[in-house]
Formats: sequence, structure tokens, C-alpha cells
Amino acid sequence: MKTTYRAMQISSPGILELVERPTPQPGHGEVLIEVEACGICGADAADIEDADPTLQPPRVPGHEVVGRIVALGTGVASIWKMGQRVRIGRLAGHCNECVPCRRGRFELCLNQSSVGADCDGGYAEMMLARSTGLVSIPDDLAAESAAPILCAGLATFNALKKSGAQAGDTVVILGVGGLGHMALQYARKMGYLVVAVGRGSDIAEDALALGAHHYIDTRQEDAAAKLQAMGGAQVIVSTISHAEAVAALMKSLAPQGRLVVLGVDKDPLPVSRGHLVIGERSVMGSLTGTPYDNERALNFSVLADVRPLIETMPLERANEAYQRMKSGDVKFRMVLIMDRSRKSA
Ligand SMILES: [Zn+2]
Ligand SMILES: [Zn+2]
Repeated sequence: MKTTYRAMQISSPGILELVERPTPQPGHGEVLIEVEACGICGADAADIEDADPTLQPPRVPGHEVVGRIVALGTGVASIWKMGQRVRIGRLAGHCNECVPCRRGRFELCLNQSSVGADCDGGYAEMMLARSTGLVSIPDDLAAESAAPILCAGLATFNALKKSGAQAGDTVVILGVGGLGHMALQYARKMGYLVVAVGRGSDIAEDALALGAHHYIDTRQEDAAAKLQAMGGAQVIVSTISHAEAVAALMKSLAPQGRLVVLGVDKDPLPVSRGHLVIGERSVMGSLTGTPYDNERALNFSVLADVRPLIETMPLERANEAYQRMKSGDVKFRMVLIMDRSRKSA
């Protein structure tokens, strides 16, 4: 194995720099992963812009990581082998000791870091990972396709499963971006009547091609009124951060309908309590999920032929790739690819 590896670390808030670092040894319960691909998620923006400038060495962002195990630490479960293809997502691996872990709710573990925020992530040729956070990757999935499924895919797959929607129900996907373009595909394959709600007509064709039965352009139409005329939404999955747009659409929830919130920002969500109580409507948040949930999402993606639409760039162009993600122009997910010929040298 090479004694050094290349990484894009956060040199100052908002700026990434290419560095060469010594290859680390995995500690107890850890593995070393040779990274093949790493998706650039909307959540990376907070990690990169709000990075602690005093941290040494600076943080390496990225939490949609696919690669191979190249070194095993002590105390790693025997299911993980040298050379195995794995991924690590936002949740860095659970402790197996806290109360949520003992309840089997590993995604709620109290001693779990966020990859790319509290520990180094995958904008790098190598990364250390806690083995409890690992997910096994099916061989039929290319690394660059698997990477976004691990965060955008899992988040939306689990949100739809937790939403309580039944086959044939009207499910609204609010926002047609990195998360939304996965949610539309899953929702269609799960058998719902799928309505995409977005801003502008330029995205309509994409939304329909991805699986929406209907597209509503909020610049042209009152989306809540149109959905009410269609009988109301059983579920709204919100992938956007703009609180007022989410609140406006809530009026379209059918009795016992549910709003599932994935997109976040700092603003509170204004909700009519009467609207909740009188129709027994509810609002829930949904996190990504456990490694087991992730394997389910990956397997369903293979089974139902759901794939992210991606653009790729090499690791050393991470600044440019990150800026393109922030501009909102990427269709629909930007993925960094490592130069494998370099690593095997
Ligand atoms: Zn993410
Ligand atoms: Zn725990």
C-alpha cells in the first residue's frame, strides 16, 4: 500500500486544497477504505462553509463514499473482509452501547459522529471508517452510481417507507433536485400516484421522465389548490429548505395525510394546529437510516432499476465540483471520482 494519499481538505471556510497525507493505520473497530467515488451532497455546504479554521489537520468533507477495504483494525466483525466493496454515509457508525443502540435504533445512537463534519470524509483517496457504519455494496452497482444512493437515495427511500403511503396513494415530492430526483423514481416504483412540485417549467420534462405522473410549476399555478382539486395528498415529502413554500403546500394534505420533512434550514415551519387536529394530519422528520436500511435501499435500487443521474469530476477539481453543486445547475448529483491508476502505482 502507498505510504501517502491525496485528500481535498478545507484550508479555510469555503475553500478546499489538495494535500498529501500519510496513510493511517485503522484503530480498534475501524477499517481503512481506498475510496473509488464520493458524492457531493447539499449537506456538504455547511461542513465546508462553517469549518473550524483552527482545526489541525483541517477536515476532509464528503459522506457519500464508496470504496474497498484495504486494511482492517482489531475488533472488526468477521463479515468485513479485505478487498470488500463498502460504503460509508453521513452516520459514521454506532457504538452498540447507548440506549438507542440497545433499542436497535442505530441511526439515533448518541455516540455517533457525522462523516465529513466531526471526522474526515471521502474527498480523498483513503479514509478511516468505523466498521459499524459500513454498508456492503452489490457488485452490479458502479461506485459513482452507488455513492449518491447512500445519502440522497437512502434519505428518500426511508422517508417514503416511513410515510405510511399505500400503493395508489397520491404522494407529492416537493423539489426536483439531488434528493427529489431519487424520490420521484422510488415513489413511482413503489406504486404511488406521483406528483412533482417544483419551480419553473424547465424541470418539468425531467420530473416526468424520472417517474412523476404530474408536474406542478409553482411559478404558474397554486400547487396546493391544484392538489386539493385532485383529492389531496396522502403524503408530501419535502426536499427543499424554504419553510414558507413547505407551509403553503401543507394545505393540500388530505385527512390523515403526512408531511415528511427532509430539507432543513434554520427557519421554523409555520403550521396551522387546527389543520393538524381536525384532519388528524401529521408532520414528521426523517433521517437517513441504519447500515441495514442502506443495504435495503441499494438492493431495491438494483431490483427496480433506480439510479441517480450524475455528473462526475476528478478529486483534484473538488472546488469546481462543489461550486457547481452550490449553483444548483448539476443534474442531479455531482460525484468525485478517484484516479485508480494513480493509487495502484
Ligand atoms: Zn448527504
Ligand atoms: Zn450508540
